[in-house]
Amino acid sequence: MSDKPYKVILPESEIPTHWYNIVADFPTPPAPPLHPATDEPLGPDDLAALFPMGLIMQEASAERWIEIPEEVREIYRIWRPTPMYRAYRLEQALGTKARIYYKYEGISPVGSHKANSSVPQAYFNKIAGRTRLTTETGAGQWGAALAFAAEVFGLKCDIWQVRSSFEGKPYRHAEMSVYGAWSIGSPSETTEIGRKLREQFPDTSGSLGMAISEAIEVAAQDPNASYSLGSVLNHVLLHQTVIGQEALKQIAAFEEPQVDYLFACAGGGSNLGGISFPFIRENLEGRQNVKITACEPAAAPSLTQGEFRYDFGDTAGMTPKLKMYTLGADFVPDPVHAGGLRYHGMAPLVSHAYHEGLISAIAVKQREAFEAGIIFARAEGIIPASESNHAIAGALRQAKVAQDGEVILIGISGNGLLDLPAYTDYLDGTMLDA
Ligand SMILES: *Cc1c(COP(=O)(O)O)cnc(C)c1O
Repeated sequence: MSDKPYKVILPESEIPTHWYNIVADFPTPPAPPLHPATDEPLGPDDLAALFPMGLIMQEASAERWIEIPEEVREIYRIWRPTPMYRAYRLEQALGTKARIYYKYEGISPVGSHKANSSVPQAYFNKIAGRTRLTTETGAGQWGAALAFAAEVFGLKCDIWQVRSSFEGKPYRHAEMSVYGAWSIGSPSETTEIGRKLREQFPDTSGSLGMAISEAIEVAAQDPNASYSLGSVLNHVLLHQTVIGQEALKQIAAFEEPQVDYLFACAGGGSNLGGISFPFIRENLEGRQNVKITACEPAAAPSLTQGEFRYDFGDTAGMTPKLKMYTLGADFVPDPVHAGGLRYHGMAPLVSHAYHEGLISAIAVKQREAFEAGIIFARAEGIIPASESNHAIAGALRQAKVAQDGEVILIGISGNGLLDLPAYTDYLDGTMLDA
């Protein structure tokens, strides 16, 4: 057996004690969110109907390090630190000159990185005295993650799931029910905006923007309820920085002084921000020179095809306006398999980093993504989430042209065990190349 490690698993004592806030280190400050009615910069009170103050303070914070409450670290212990692997067998399969590593978030109870933020979001709601959470979910990963976290902290959880996934992925509904949550396809008859959208677009397959509007409408009307968002907002990306902080320690434990290329998939931007922001900090301080690539789906290419401007986070225009790369809040993407990537905008922090040239982006069509995912699965055994396949596709493009000894790191945001029907479509040759 080789004396080189296949994986680095950090002890629980290495679970980060703080989240890293990149706002403190950006060379220029990002543009503030605006009030949807007045276009004035948003104050903390403007968000108080929707979010608990603990999360609002994080949303607006410019402090570099924000302490992770002990109660949250205690739950993180179920799956964190997550492992990092050297993909020896993938390297062999590709015949690449690069050394390839991957940080794997698929071992969380819900199978993705989303639990890194659902747990602190449920915690801060609990200590603020809220008893009910409402949210949207696309493919169902965020809904499942929030359902799990709500259960941990004894909160009720109501979920509006994009109709195309609700109908196409009944096992996600089952998963949310197992964790004790209520869920329904969106747009639904349960809200005013949902009824309006159904009247206007009777055949709509739904969108994250529509589901967000429904969940916000309900939270805004119930004083005991908060709305939770699984991506896009600053506090969500902040929570996800546990990924990148661990990855820095693990890559050092592999005795790699430097990562040359980092690839992560980008829907709303949370796993990309989470793994890459600690590396951007290394870049800004001159310790590393990592080229970071956001891999987005060609079906929802907000960074590569969108405009950088203020836009709403939802279809009905109920959220604050966010400065972001956007395809327009009424954008309804093709129902591609990577449901978690089908959002019209990109997180303001990721958008800002992209605008400032701190990261770059590519768009990947779904057949290339699944081809890469299958090469990965056959070499490494892990079946990646549909979304994660986009990151693997980006890495494989680089691995093919790599120089000797180049180091490539892939963020694998989740496992694909509930995405197997999509793999079947690919293998049958019935997958559209959207
Ligand atoms: C939700 C999800 C994504 C996309 O969301 P981001 O906020 O861009 O990370 C990617 N991968 C998995 C496994 C997901 O569940």
